[in-house]
Amino acid sequence: MSSYDYDLFVIGAGSGGVRAARMSAGFGARVAIAEDRYLGGTCVNVGCIPKKLFVYASHFSEDLRDAAGYGWKIGSTSFDWHTLIENKNAEIHRLNGIYERLLSNAGATLINGRAVIKGSHTVTVNDRDYTAERILVATGGWPTVPDIPGKEHVITSNEAFYLESLPEHITIVGGGYIAVEFAGIFNGLGVDTTLLYRGPLFMRGFDDELREVLADEIRKKGVKLQFNADVERIEKFGDKYTVHVSSKDREFPSPEPWTTDLVMYATGRHPMTSGLGLEQAGVELNWNGAVVINDDYQSSVPSIYAIGDVTHRFNLTPVATAEGTALARNLYDNDSERVSYEDIPTCVFSQPSLGTVGVTETEARERYGEFEVYKTSFRSLKLTLTGSEERTFMKILVDRATDRVVGVHMIGPEAGEIIQGMAVAMKAGATKSQFDATIGIHPTSAEEFVTMREPSG
Ligand code: FAD
Ligand code: NDP
Repeated sequence: MSSYDYDLFVIGAGSGGVRAARMSAGFGARVAIAEDRYLGGTCVNVGCIPKKLFVYASHFSEDLRDAAGYGWKIGSTSFDWHTLIENKNAEIHRLNGIYERLLSNAGATLINGRAVIKGSHTVTVNDRDYTAERILVATGGWPTVPDIPGKEHVITSNEAFYLESLPEHITIVGGGYIAVEFAGIFNGLGVDTTLLYRGPLFMRGFDDELREVLADEIRKKGVKLQFNADVERIEKFGDKYTVHVSSKDREFPSPEPWTTDLVMYATGRHPMTSGLGLEQAGVELNWNGAVVINDDYQSSVPSIYAIGDVTHRFNLTPVATAEGTALARNLYDNDSERVSYEDIPTCVFSQPSLGTVGVTETEARERYGEFEVYKTSFRSLKLTLTGSEERTFMKILVDRATDRVVGVHMIGPEAGEIIQGMAVAMKAGATKSQFDATIGIHPTSAEEFVTMREPSG
């Protein structure tokens, strides 16, 4: 046993930190974990979980409308934001308790307070020094708001989860996961929603055709999308805001400043490393403050490790937890298995949702000499008796030389649920012939993935 107070001191009880702490403790390590805000971290408190609950809440408006086509007479309906917030908060409180029990049952010591690294083996919390053979930085990230005049008037996703009331109109700035998901949430809850994005088409990095289809579908639902738009400044007048925008898009020539009830910025997140004592301890950080690590999650100081969003690589909960598991096993269970970062599936919980795994068509063009594209677009059976114009879009990319399926993409209901299964098939190296040989489940949307026979174009 080492002479340190602990074998492992984890900073941050979020997705990655809790997983690493409880598994390491389970393998017999003496573990402490410090948390200064909320147990469960971003995902549980101001991320995946409350976000998905909001998505469910907002989708009921469409479900109630669609029910009419099936004969349901629902009468007048109304939505109460306070009920949603209260119920959501109660659920998060329950989850906070579960996380606390997970840690204590595993034998990890929870220390409430902000931790600062004082040296390669020392952490200070609440003015007390703790020593540890290893320190794990799992402090996650925080929303980034660019330095524009009026930035003090805007909210981020953090505040969106605790609004006292719903605005009549919201302006969302950004074109990534959070902007698109919250545009769907607010629009579904009856808020007049405008999304501003600085480039020609949002969701950069996703398959271009999917980006186009998603923009069309989101517009159909009533969200106003304004691309090529840069916010110049935001002014506050009473309880409203004026947004001044310069537009590079000919379709929207220099719009007049408009008035909105709320401005939400969703323009990325940065690693939470400021004031943590990392630079003083000699830990190398990159341009945006992310901890630079090697394949063993070790920083430039060998006793200090980092996992999850603070390393700013794949900022997703399942990646942070996989890294926590791998680190605990590598350090305390004699296991050398590494996380596989190939073909990480992901879902944007937009409305409709977008699920994807593997390469985009542009990447396939660069990576594979010859490849085939299979795609289909249709109205899902559930919507045929309704007035909904939402369409489901699916696309498979196949490397012609090996017949391997190298990309599966979808926009439509439950895209995340469907693509999760496709990701297993891809991980197992499935070929297009094996997709074709798989019997479909009828009638579903997912069966289309095993019935597309003719490549497009
Ligand atoms: P975190 O979960 O952020 O945990 C870090 C913890 O460290 C926090 O609790 C913080 O309070 C604590 N901490 C920081 N500094 C200190 C300190 N000095 N001392 C003590 N404690 C400290 N991912 C998905 O996979 N699916 C989704 O649907 C999804 N939706 C999201 C929606 C939103 C709005 C946001 C913001 C994120 C979403 N994410 C989603 C991303 C996901 O939440 C993160 O990838 C994940 O939480 C990262 O886990 P982590 O352990 O690295 O950090
Ligand atoms: P993203 O990185 O996904 O998107 C940021 C958006 O903001 C991009 O459209 C970017 O534009 C734009 N942007 C960046 N800087 C500026 C600026 N100075 N002015 C105007 N626009 C700007 O970040 P999010 O904040 O949406 O989400 C953070 C991360 O959290 C995600 O990347 C994801 O990893 C995770 N997350 C995962 C979810 C899920 O799994 N469903 C849901 C929510 C979050 P450009 O593309 O031009 O750079």
